[in-house]
Amino acid sequence: MSDRDLEDRIAAALTEIDAETRAFGARTGLACPPGCGACCLSPDVETTPADMIPMAGALLDAGHAAAVLDRLTDRPGRAPCVLYQPDPLDPRRGRCAMYARRPSICRLFAFAGRRDAEGTPQFTPCRVHMETLPDRARTARDDVRAGTIPLPIFADHAARVAMLAPGAMARTMPINDALRGALEKVGLARQCAAMETASALADACTAPDTDDSPGSPRTPRPVRPMRPAA
Ligand code: SF4
Repeated sequence: MSDRDLEDRIAAALTEIDAETRAFGARTGLACPPGCGACCLSPDVETTPADMIPMAGALLDAGHAAAVLDRLTDRPGRAPCVLYQPDPLDPRRGRCAMYARRPSICRLFAFAGRRDAEGTPQFTPCRVHMETLPDRARTARDDVRAGTIPLPIFADHAARVAMLAPGAMARTMPINDALRGALEKVGLARQCAAMETASALADACTAPDTDDSPGSPRTPRPVRPMRPAA
C-alpha cells in the first residue's frame, strides 16, 4: 500500500465514525454547545500517530507542516493541542484549525464509550453535557446501560485504524507527540517518493536507448521492398 493510499484509507475510516456519532447524537439529543473548546483545551488528550496521518498529510499539502512542527517544539508531552485556535475574546471557546481531518478521539469524545469487564457498553457523559444538558445526558447513560441505543466504542475505532498502520504508529501518546510522529512519517514518505521519482527520471534520461519496439524514434523503420522497374 502506498503512503497516499494509507492516508486515504485512514481518512475514510475516520469519516465513517461521524455517521455513528451523528446517529448517537440524534437518538440522545446530545450536542456540543457552539464553539465549545473544552475537549481541545485539555492537556490529557491522547491518540496515535496513525490516527493523525490524514491530518499530517493535509498539513503538508497546505504547506503548514514546518510552522506546526515549530509550534510542537514548545509543547512536548501533556499540553493542549497545537491545532486549537482559541477565540481571542473567550479562550474557552474556539475551533480546530483542521476540523475535517481531526483524529478519531476528537470525533468520538462525548458521543462514545467503553465496554466493561462483562463486555457491556458503558457511557460516561462529558462534563459539559452534564452541565448544559443534564437530563439528556443521564437518560443517554441509562439507555446505553439498558441496551436500548447503540453506543460507538472508542476501542473498536482505535483498533480499526491500528490495523491499517500497526506497530509504532499505533502506540497511544499525547496528541501533540502523535501529530509530530505522523508529520515525520508522512513527510519522510513523501521525500522518499519524490527522490524515487527524480531518480527514475534521471535513469530514464541517461540510460542508453535500447528500445527497439515499433515506433521508437531510434528503431529503424522497416524498409519496403522496392518494386521492380516496369
Ligand atoms: S485535533 Fe482539533 S478537535 Fe482534536 S484536540 Fe486538536 S484542535 Fe481539538
